Amino acid sequence: MLNVISITSMVEYHFKVSPIVYEYAAEQANLTEGQRMFIIKSIKRDNESYNVLYDNSKWSCDCKSYKYKSGVTEEGYCKHIRLLVFFLKEGVVIPFV
Ligand SMILES: [Zn+2]
Repeated sequence: MLNVISITSMVEYHFKVSPIVYEYAAEQANLTEGQRMFIIKSIKRDNESYNVLYDNSKWSCDCKSYKYKSGVTEEGYCKHIRLLVFFLKEGVVIPFV
């Protein structure tokens, strides 16, 4: 509920204005098996971006919302994680950085 509008606007932005979601290549981010790392650029602030890590089915993000558990879902998902869960579920092709 809290993040529905944010997610929708991020999805629209990604497709209509400029891609904001990318994935790091494994060697680029020193990832091990079962890990994937993504970067989501802020649509409000040009120089900001957030790193989202998927580690053997567990998600984490380096944004303040995730860190302080404010505006997150019951599972502790911030809007960035929710955006990625949505993209992966919908089969959206995420470009590499
Ligand atoms: Zn986040």
